[in-house]
Amino acid sequence: MIPFDFEYYKPSSVHMAVELFQLLQNQGKKPVYYAGGTEIITWARTNSIQPGAVINLNSIPECSVMGIQKDKLVIGACVTLSALSEANPFPLLSQTAQGVADQTARNKITLGGNICGKIYYREAVLPLLLANSRMIIAGIHGIREVSIHQVFLQQLRLENGEFLVQTFTDQYYLSLPFVHYKKRQIGNVGYPLVTVAALKQDNQIHTAYSGVCSFPFRSIEIDQVLNSSSIPLAARIEQAISKLPGSIIHNTEGSAPYRKFVLKQTMADTIHILERR
Ligand SMILES: Cc1cc2nc3c(=O)[nH]c(=O)nc-3n(C[C@H](O)[C@H](O)[C@H](O)COP(=O)(O)OP(=O)(O)OC[C@H]3O[C@@H](n4cnc5c(N)ncnc54)[C@H](O)[C@@H]3O)c2cc1C
Repeated sequence: MIPFDFEYYKPSSVHMAVELFQLLQNQGKKPVYYAGGTEIITWARTNSIQPGAVINLNSIPECSVMGIQKDKLVIGACVTLSALSEANPFPLLSQTAQGVADQTARNKITLGGNICGKIYYREAVLPLLLANSRMIIAGIHGIREVSIHQVFLQQLRLENGEFLVQTFTDQYYLSLPFVHYKKRQIGNVGYPLVTVAALKQDNQIHTAYSGVCSFPFRSIEIDQVLNSSSIPLAARIEQAISKLPGSIIHNTEGSAPYRKFVLKQTMADTIHILERR
């Protein structure tokens, strides 16, 4: 049960959603955008958040799109992870989505919710970082299209009242050789110890990580080291580890030394597989 009252809105256009947000905020109602609701409902039940209003984005047509438009794969922010895996327009993204939570939760969890959520794994962003995707963001001043690298820095940096409408990915990236590994403490469901997504482009391996630091990331420096094929692999991996952009997570899923061990092994597996493709 959610132990407080809140107002519920379901606008049918991007414009209505941003206007509503502005209006409700001016009324002091602390509105939040709502997609799959899995995180919002979980936190509201425990009183960790107390929005006075929620704005459900699911009736906005642009947010439910999934398909190719002019050589680009367009995915609406409200497309669920289940729908993404089933349609499989970008195999690396589908495989990554398939690794998040369980089937019941994935039927609700959306691409936008996973990327914008507070739970810091945000695994679905990894393929988009590797494919240099572009983000379509709506706010009170209109719509902006920006490179993911400009707005996703540890988390999606949205201005007050903005929301993610869609992602655009060049068709070129969709069929590149890839690998995806999600290593958990136990079983096939649960948060990652280490998730690695990687693409091979022009004979270079590009990698992105979740579960290692308290934010998902892609690092050009790590990729440079991992691709230095004149150096023995074990030495490359040691150097790559020294270039991590933050400290390694230490939590109930796994200690930092154990995560480091798993990360090294997963990096080695990734390089072995992709060097041969
Ligand atoms: C059982 C369970 C297991 C999980 N396991 C994993 C896992 O293994 N790996 C992983 O990466 N994550 C995992 N998660 C986290 C999950 O992916 C996130 O909680 C995600 O936010 C939920 O998506 P949603 O669509 O339900 O978002 P919601 O609950 O609707 O929203 C979450 C947050 O994102 C904001 N938001 C939603 N859509 C938008 C948008 N389009 N633009 C701007 N802001 C938006 C909301 O305002 C809210 O702050 C798990 C969650 C659950 C419940």
